[in-house]
Parts: sequence; C-alpha cells; structure tokens
Amino acid sequence: GLTDRLQKAFKNLRGKGKISESDLRETMREIRLALLEADVNFKVVRQFVKTVQEKAKGADVLEGLNPAQQIVKIVNDELTNMMGESATPLVKSDKIPTVIMMVGLQGAGKTTSAGKLAKKLKTDDHARPLMIAADVYRPAAIEQLEKVGEQVGVPVFQEGTDVDPVQIVQDGLKEADKNNNDYVLIDTAGRLQIDENLMDELKNIKKVANPNDILLVVDAMTGQSAVDTAVGFNDALDITGVILTKLDGDTRGGAALSIRAVTDKPIMFVGQGEKLDDLDVFHPDRMASRILGMGDMLSFIEKTQKEYDENQAKELTEKIKENSFDFDDFIDQLEQIQKMGPIQDLVKMIPGMANNPALKNLNVNPKDLDHIKAIIYSMTSEERSNPDVLNPSRRRRIARGSAQPIQQVNRLIKQFDQMKKMMNKVSNGNMSGLSNMMNS
Ligand code: GDP
Ligand code: MG
Repeated sequence: GLTDRLQKAFKNLRGKGKISESDLRETMREIRLALLEADVNFKVVRQFVKTVQEKAKGADVLEGLNPAQQIVKIVNDELTNMMGESATPLVKSDKIPTVIMMVGLQGAGKTTSAGKLAKKLKTDDHARPLMIAADVYRPAAIEQLEKVGEQVGVPVFQEGTDVDPVQIVQDGLKEADKNNNDYVLIDTAGRLQIDENLMDELKNIKKVANPNDILLVVDAMTGQSAVDTAVGFNDALDITGVILTKLDGDTRGGAALSIRAVTDKPIMFVGQGEKLDDLDVFHPDRMASRILGMGDMLSFIEKTQKEYDENQAKELTEKIKENSFDFDDFIDQLEQIQKMGPIQDLVKMIPGMANNPALKNLNVNPKDLDHIKAIIYSMTSEERSNPDVLNPSRRRRIARGSAQPIQQVNRLIKQFDQMKKMMNKVSNGNMSGLSNMMNS
C-alpha cells in the first residue's frame, strides 16, 4: 500500500548525515510513483512533488533533526496542507433548523451517512434532528432510512414515492418548524452516474431548502472516479464539503489526497464502517500521519519542533527584557514572518496590538520586506548587534550597499528604535502575549 511505498522511499535517506541532490531526486521519484499508484490525481502529484522539492532545498536545518527526518517533516506538512490543514466543522444556522443536504451517487453511502451524522449531532450536540426521505426512486429507500432512523432514535419525514421530492422537502421543512427540530438532514436520490435529471432535481431541492451545508458523499474505494464525481457535483451544486465513506475498506488513499486539491472543498467526515457509530471528523494532520505510517518519527519531530520554537521564544523574551533586541533578531523575525504569510493578518492576531494606532495603517508588501532585509544585510555584524553605532557615514555606506535611498535606511532605523521601545513597554507591562506573537 501507499504507506509501505512511502516508507520505502524514505529508507535510502536513513542514516545519512547529508542528503545530496541525487538522493533527494531519487526519493522524490519514489514518492511520486507511490502517490500515482495510490490513485492520487496526477496534477495533484505534480504540484505536490514540486512543492516538497522546493521546501526540501530551502529548508532551514532544524536543530535536533537529521536530514531524513527533515524531509519526512516536509512531506507530512505538505500532505496535511493538501488535505486542508485543519478540520472543517459544519455550518450552524443562526435560526433553526440548520439544514444539511446529502448528495452523491447511488451506493456511495448517503442514507447510512445521514443516519450516522444524525446520531453524532444527537450525542455530541444534544440536537433534535429530523431526517427527510427525498429518494423516491431507489426501491425500499424510504424503508431503509426509517430503519436507520429507528436505530439512532431520530424521526423520519416521508410522503411515500408518489410525491415530487422537491414537494417532500418543502413539507418536511414545515414539519421541522412545527416540531422545533434544530437540524434537518435531507437524504436525496442518487444515480449510477451523474446525469442531468438528477442534477436538476438536486438544484431544485437546493433552491427550496437553502441548505447550510451540502455534503457530497463519495466512496473512497472508487479512487480516481471519486474525484471526478466530486468535480461534477461541485460544478452543479457548489457543495460545501465531502463525506468520504468506506475508508475501512481496502482503499488506496488517492481520493482522500486529491479531493481537496481538485475541488477546493474540504473532506469533513469519514465513514469507517457499516455501523452507525462509524463516522469520524476528518483531521488532515492525522490522515497525513496515518498515510505516512511514521507515528513515532512524527511525534519525535513535532516535539523537537516545539522545543525549538519554545527556546527561540524564550531567548527573544529575554532579549527584549534586557533591551538587547538587535537587528539580527529583527531579521530572524522578519524571516519567520515572511514564511507565515500576509502581515496584516498576523498583526490582527497579536493580543492588544490589533488596535494599536501605530499599526493601524500597516500595509506591508513583500517587496518592502525584501528591501528591509537588504538594508539589514548591508550592516556589519557590529552594527546589527549594536545599532547605536549607526552614525551618518555608516548609514550612507549601508544605503549604497543595499541600493536603497538613505531616507529608507534612516526610516528603518527609526522604526526599529520605536519598535524596540514599544516592545520594552509591552514586556514590562502586562502583555505576556508578546512571545506568542513572535512565535505563533
Ligand atoms: P446511498 O445509496 O448513497 O444511500 O448508500 P447507502 O447508505 O445505502 O450505502 C450503500 C452501502 O454502503 C450499504 O451497504 C452501507 O452499509 C455501505 N456503507 C456506507 N458507508 C460505509 C462505510 O463507511 N464503510 C463501509 N464498510 N460500508 C459503508
Ligand atoms: Mg440512499
């Protein structure tokens, strides 16, 4: 399986102190083959390999990890990324009921998953769901849903097979209103393949039900075609998420890895068995480590990373307290920030800083950061660690060296001074959040 193949791919890196370009190339080739063999969409594989390769080349060596561990970490992070980073919860409506519409091909697991989800809502949220039987085509579909409802103790609204499904949904929603149900789950019909009639019916149901979530149920065992199904349903209905069923079976994992990348919609739940308890929230990070099958190594890596981050944060806090924060620290922070993404977003997360007038008009573009870095790199190490020595002639030299106007250099030094003062105030005040800010 995929896990074995990936482990094999990493095997030739074990015990190596340094990884050559050709080692890396060979490992990436193995990873690519492993993913393709597991039915991961080829475009997704191509992008994945490219990203991992770039990150592996540019990776900072994390203290305490050997090169093989570094690469495992990068692969794990990218696998997680590919599946959407963190779990996506259901949308909750402001006013009841929250409406969830289940769609998907015949046999994918809609009816079973509706029952599982109703049970989960009932146990976890103490919800009072109602299920609506809107599949009037599949023989005994209504009886199946009623049986599931009985097993989980959730009522089922049905009007037989002679009423139009759109009408059934409308009537069912009225029933939910009358009974104060806080969730409504609509079990719709499927087909063996996507066809226009089905999509039209689903679009009409969507129109009258105005669902908070449209969950596409797909069978993980169907590999690549699960991804095609997802694309088809998403194009027609703009689904909000996916339930991936039958992950307990002998699946190759490709669907789990491709769906998010191809449709940009998250997998929200996974079905792991026929029983009505067998539905789990989908956690991309857990799935990634399950696929990698390197639990021990991954927890070691995570721990090392955490210690490393904590040490850095502690050092920084000390420096700020001693008022010895210098341009070397500043550039470290800039590098970290650049890795993290748009600064405006970050600033908002800093406790107490969001409303700081000095930061109000902050709008840093990545080019400016590069200029700032150029200026700092043109300083001598003495100047970086002791900015007080930066007299006019040194400033002129730095401006020339970094190809930036002298005003720019002066402004940076001034801003740095202000920032240092502010940090000092903060660290002596009541804002212990600063180290978090610097390291989150
Ligand atoms: P629907 O046509 O989409 O409503 O699909 P059903 O809910 O009727 O499910 C079709 C079959 O798949 C049934 O036999 C279910 O028991 C089975 N099934 C659904 N989800 C899972 C799952 O997560 N794991 C396994 N092993 N079987 C499942
Ligand atoms: Mg069904």
